[in-house]
Amino acid sequence: MPGLFDGTPLQRPVTCATCGKAMAQCACPRDQRGVVTPPAAQPARVQRERRRGKWATVVMGLDPVATDLPALAQTLRKKFATGGSVKDGEIELQGDHRDALVTHLKALGYPAKAAGG
Ligand SMILES: [Zn+2]
Repeated sequence: MPGLFDGTPLQRPVTCATCGKAMAQCACPRDQRGVVTPPAAQPARVQRERRRGKWATVVMGLDPVATDLPALAQTLRKKFATGGSVKDGEIELQGDHRDALVTHLKALGYPAKAAGG
């Protein structure tokens, strides 16, 4: 039934302004308000921390809705062959992988920076 909503507030673009696809096909990462939040809009901070005498590397600043943190953590665990988890919107990996992690996140499109000491 074309034109049903012509001239009403319901007549609005049904394509995504970012990828140009129909909203139903759009897979752009969005934050919890529905705002498109690509990796480039998620400045990550990568920090080393001592945990019970051992180094851990923590990734902060990623949007927990726009980025699938459990999936990313799994990728990182595999890549760095180490253990890790997601907690409070942060990814924690066992061991000191700060610099390699910054490089890897940048390759994924996140503006990552090393933080802390
Ligand atoms: Zn889109």
